Amino acid sequence: MSSTEITVRWLGTNAWEITGNGATVLVDPWVTRFRTGAPKGEEWDMDTPLTIDEAAVDEHIAAADCILITHGHWDHITDVPYVAAKTGATVLGTETHLNLLRAMDAPEAQLGQVSGGELYRFDGFTVDVFEAHHNSSGRHKQLLFAGSRVGEVPRRPETVRDLVEGGSLAYLVTIGEARLLIGVTTNFQEREIEGVRPTLLFMQAGSRNSPRYEERLLEATGRPPYVVPTHWDDYEEPLTEPAVDWLGAERLGEKVSELSPESEFVLLDHLESFTFEG
Ligand SMILES: [Zn+2]
Repeated sequence: MSSTEITVRWLGTNAWEITGNGATVLVDPWVTRFRTGAPKGEEWDMDTPLTIDEAAVDEHIAAADCILITHGHWDHITDVPYVAAKTGATVLGTETHLNLLRAMDAPEAQLGQVSGGELYRFDGFTVDVFEAHHNSSGRHKQLLFAGSRVGEVPRRPETVRDLVEGGSLAYLVTIGEARLLIGVTTNFQEREIEGVRPTLLFMQAGSRNSPRYEERLLEATGRPPYVVPTHWDDYEEPLTEPAVDWLGAERLGEKVSELSPESEFVLLDHLESFTFEG
């Protein structure tokens, strides 16, 4: 098969635009970036109101065929109803993610429910869905803002507290010969992604609760040619300014070069993109 040019562009947080073969896939497209306090060392202010900066979305997101949701927190899905309506893209997420989006007036006909295990073909790409597990924190290993299930459409979410995790998903996007894996957290287990050999791995920085995370993930994915750090910036600083390293992208880079010297660690700044032949 002839090679395909793939471009990934970072929109901050875990938000990515993946383009290639005439298709555009968005992951967790959130560019509104309101203040909750956590990156500044404060407790999250769970009463922070949810807002959508439509001008920012319009500035940074033009078109999309598919939107992949890794979990339901505010820094992942708040902008999705607006992005979905604007682009007409198919939105994949769990029952809970989709119920939260319905309550925020996302276009019903575009919502596709998944739970892990699905494999879908779209025009120009395919999407494999994997069950994942949100990173935990603290001495008692709680899930960050516990992941309650929302089995029916709730009242309209108004604050950060209302957007629960609702299950976590990872996705393998295949475009031509290129395979891009996103959504594997520091809490992964090898069996969940057995045999997956991504060309490009979007990788989070480690946490204290995850034994040998970096080593295990690089091993389990066959030491991918490209490793791109994700969700590491202070997401309360502007997207139009250089990213502030909140969660340790630099440190992750050192680990990757030590554990997988053949992998290229591609550290992108806000709104930068990286193109490779897949
Ligand atoms: Zn997040």
